[in-house]
Amino acid sequence: MLRELKSSTKPVMGVLHSLDQEVKTKREISKSTEVKAEGNSMSFKLSERSLGRLDGVDEKLVKVVKRAIELTKVDFGVTEGLRTIERQQELVNSGASQTMASKHIEGKAVDLVAYVGDRVSWELNLYDDIADAVKQAAKELDVAVRWGAAWNVNNICEWTGSMESAMNHYIDTRRSQGRRPFIDAPHFELV
Ligand SMILES: [Zn+2]
Repeated sequence: MLRELKSSTKPVMGVLHSLDQEVKTKREISKSTEVKAEGNSMSFKLSERSLGRLDGVDEKLVKVVKRAIELTKVDFGVTEGLRTIERQQELVNSGASQTMASKHIEGKAVDLVAYVGDRVSWELNLYDDIADAVKQAAKELDVAVRWGAAWNVNNICEWTGSMESAMNHYIDTRRSQGRRPFIDAPHFELV
């Protein structure tokens, strides 16, 4: 009986051992990836789907988005770039958009959604972090960009505070005018 146990234990131990080695190897791989990303463990990549959605978008804005994903604290994906007139009409009809003069039709706007792990999140505080990365990228590349949560800031590159403070400024301004703020936090457009 004892002998049987011993002999059946051995191969199990062997399996555990090799599994352990596999885990170690994976860790080493992820370590070397971090090193490649210049030691930034929070570096993200645009998926093929997100990159595909940048097709037809103005090159300047594409560059800003591609730089922003390298800088951002919060992972994001592209949900929409260039939009057809038909699609815009649908959005206006459903109330999802307020205008037929959308910059998406010209390929001069993108919508970026926040990811937490593999899931999309609509938590507003994630979006001002993304906007901070877009602002830094736009500044580096000298591209004037407007954000859909701070419409009255004409070019986010010129806003000296955080993008959270830009959004609060927009909300306060609208309220002081007795108007409702229109927050479209995923939206960035060329000015
Ligand atoms: Zn948009």
